[in-house]
Amino acid sequence: MGTDVRSPSLQMVRCAQCGRVDTAMRPVCAGCLSSDLQPVSVPARGVVASYTTIRRAPTQFRDRQPYDIVVVDLDAGPRVTGRLSADSAPASIGARVHAVHVDHADTVFTLDEQP
Ligand SMILES: [Zn+2]
Repeated sequence: MGTDVRSPSLQMVRCAQCGRVDTAMRPVCAGCLSSDLQPVSVPARGVVASYTTIRRAPTQFRDRQPYDIVVVDLDAGPRVTGRLSADSAPASIGARVHAVHVDHADTVFTLDEQP
């Protein structure tokens, strides 16, 4: 997997036995129960599985409201939740997205440019 400066990667774990990629450090693989899990970086890009608009945000995000929360099926396999960038095109289910910002608590996605 190549490095794309426009799209940061996400830290995941990969099972050394079956290859399943998962979002969090777990004691065992959810697929095969192996405990041989290795940290791995995966590209933060995928497809919108679902989204919702937050109009009354928690206090710490109030200056951003309204904003969209997107559920993204990553190309690498896991499903993650993030925020849609304020300058992104509107979310739609099935749309391709990539992350523009990642930190431990906040992943911000934007829609890929349409052809
Ligand atoms: Zn496994």
